[in-house]
Amino acid sequence: MTTVLWHGGWRSMMGFSVLPALGEVLFPRLCEACGSRLNAGDVALCAVCQSRLPFRACIDTGFDEDVECERLPRRVMAVFTYVHGGMLHKLVAKVKHGGRRDLARSLGRLAAVEAGRAGAFDGVDVIVPVPLDPAKLRRRGYNQAFEMAMGVSQHTGIPVADVLARAGGGDSQKSKRAGERERNVKGAFAIVDASSCAGRHVLIVDDVMTTGATLAECAALLSGCAASVSVLAVARTAVV
Ligand SMILES: [Zn+2]
Repeated sequence: MTTVLWHGGWRSMMGFSVLPALGEVLFPRLCEACGSRLNAGDVALCAVCQSRLPFRACIDTGFDEDVECERLPRRVMAVFTYVHGGMLHKLVAKVKHGGRRDLARSLGRLAAVEAGRAGAFDGVDVIVPVPLDPAKLRRRGYNQAFEMAMGVSQHTGIPVADVLARAGGGDSQKSKRAGERERNVKGAFAIVDASSCAGRHVLIVDDVMTTGATLAECAALLSGCAASVSVLAVARTAVV
């Protein structure tokens, strides 16, 4: 009897049914926002924190007046609201300054679930992340917009292509006002892989949209080769 039990236990360990569960016991996954234990299937956040994520989901350009609506494509979606000091601010800080590449992907997946319900991926052929400034890329080791795009891709099955690159110039947009931001990104990007977007419906993905100047510049550039362009920002700063 003992032999049979041992044999069964050993087999189930080899059959991967015990090891992941053991891993959960030894290294439980914790909610990135509140630190409570995650259930199987939870992505980065527990059910309570997920339900508290400030959902925004706009899918048109009827934005607030500080967004350069006329320069953005017709289909724009910003999924969550980014409030200074709020939950999303803390999560994005972990991504940008805490080396949490995995969390960037998780946020992309969470955004994709909500955006998908609103039809943000209908007809989309390829996902194009907004490229990161090379100096920041070296410092951080990854582009958070690319990682979020990969998270969107994991949920939707739509491929990601690095079609855009920084063309030089363009300081950080942080601490710049709307007009300055628009001038600052003029000519800041270049298409480096036209074949991946030619004739296709391109979805540009970025982490946090503020005035929309960066996304508008990328969209204007891509509309020269893509059949159509739409935009998905994981979050949009709250208008104060
Ligand atoms: Zn939580």
